[in-house]
Amino acid sequence: MGKKEKVKVSFNINKKENFSNWYSEILDKAEITDIRYNVKGFVVIRPLGAFLIENLYKLWETELQKRGHFPVFFPTVIPEENFKKESQHIEGFSPEVFWLEKKGEEKLALRPTSETAFYQLYSLWIRSWRDLPLKLYQRANVFRYETKATRPLIRAREFYWLESHNCFASREEAEKQVQEDIETTKKIMYQKLGIPFLPLKRPEWDKFAGAEYTIGSDVLMPDGKVIQQPSTHLLERGFAKSFNIKFTNKEGKEEYVWQTCYGPAVSRILASLISIHGDDSGLVLPFCISPIQVVIVPIYTMKNKRKIWKKVQEIKNKLEQEGIRVKIDDSEKTPGEKFYFWEVRGVPLRIEVGEKELKEKLTLFLRDEKRKIKVDLKEIKKQGLNLDKRLKRKADKEFKNSIINCKSLEEVKKTLSQKKIARCNFCFIDKRGEKCAEIVEKNFLAFVRGIRHDIKEKPTGKCVVCNKKANVVVYIAKSY
Ligand SMILES: [Zn+2]
Repeated sequence: MGKKEKVKVSFNINKKENFSNWYSEILDKAEITDIRYNVKGFVVIRPLGAFLIENLYKLWETELQKRGHFPVFFPTVIPEENFKKESQHIEGFSPEVFWLEKKGEEKLALRPTSETAFYQLYSLWIRSWRDLPLKLYQRANVFRYETKATRPLIRAREFYWLESHNCFASREEAEKQVQEDIETTKKIMYQKLGIPFLPLKRPEWDKFAGAEYTIGSDVLMPDGKVIQQPSTHLLERGFAKSFNIKFTNKEGKEEYVWQTCYGPAVSRILASLISIHGDDSGLVLPFCISPIQVVIVPIYTMKNKRKIWKKVQEIKNKLEQEGIRVKIDDSEKTPGEKFYFWEVRGVPLRIEVGEKELKEKLTLFLRDEKRKIKVDLKEIKKQGLNLDKRLKRKADKEFKNSIINCKSLEEVKKTLSQKKIARCNFCFIDKRGEKCAEIVEKNFLAFVRGIRHDIKEKPTGKCVVCNKKANVVVYIAKSY
């Protein structure tokens, strides 16, 4: 085969109709993960995946630090003694814990989450009201023995997250923190990355083990299942009591602290980012997070090679001065192969530089719309920001169209089969409503995900299941 001969390569899978296949293929072809590591449920994250995870960490950590949270690193292992201290917590997490055992020594858990590690030290660090609030977080990998089928980044036995653990002198301050966490999620995941979500207060039977209440962020994946993204919890003072985290208040009296925790799982957020914005030709990365924001493909002949290379270098330098992450593709591939290579990997903007571009405007390929436009060099950044706006608008529209008001179980069934979320009147999300939720689960393999936390929604009719007076409006969906 001649070197310049066109190699027919293309990624073409219908994401909407065959999401499962699309997802596996995209992780492989864009070289995000490798599933061939020989321990079940554990995957290797390759450079593109690792760069994206790193960039997600940066976004969240910058925001947390701006809001007065500081980083720490705690050990990966937690002694069984700590783990046993909070009864609800151990009950909730026990089945998922990987234990390390060595003869004659105490059993150690590989952290599935680190409340019981942090709080042992919090009881030593906190003495008086002057030590509060205490707001610390760590970036960590956590381990959960998933028994359901695992999927890379979506549900794995090891995943990457940030966990923020906070102590306050009053319930009011703790509730404010929960609110702030939701705003942080909104600012980064929705406004910046263009991933729409529903902030839902979970039903009593579905909250975090040891929490008074939990607010989850549900993102709808293309296969019609929701996935829980960052959740924030107002903890009961159970942990404070179990770990004896007390402070002396301004009146000189001892009190237990109020606690919250917040956990954005960056590897799972990456799964949503890939799935929401990707298209039938591959990955589509938002400009703001893409490790390579602009790729430059030089198209030259022996005659103009030198001039083209000079131009390409100039463009790169100018863009880098603007803080844009640029790569020149100087590989031996044909231009067509290069186009395909970067399209599958979701690079948002591609500049093509050939003989024409030496004199005229630049040719810019927009990954999301898959079309070429002519632009001046100084417009590139604006084009990147516009691309992000388009991705968000498109995702927004799809999400809005996927929430359907349902007045009967028949309608719920139809909505779920159309890969959408059912919005229904419902009796209760405390213990009294659990029976109705069980019926939903049994009939449709779907879940009552909770009520809106960001707005007050008034029910107008009867519970979609039991027909008794509705007290809440809930969202019902299949889930990961
Ligand atoms: Zn009911």
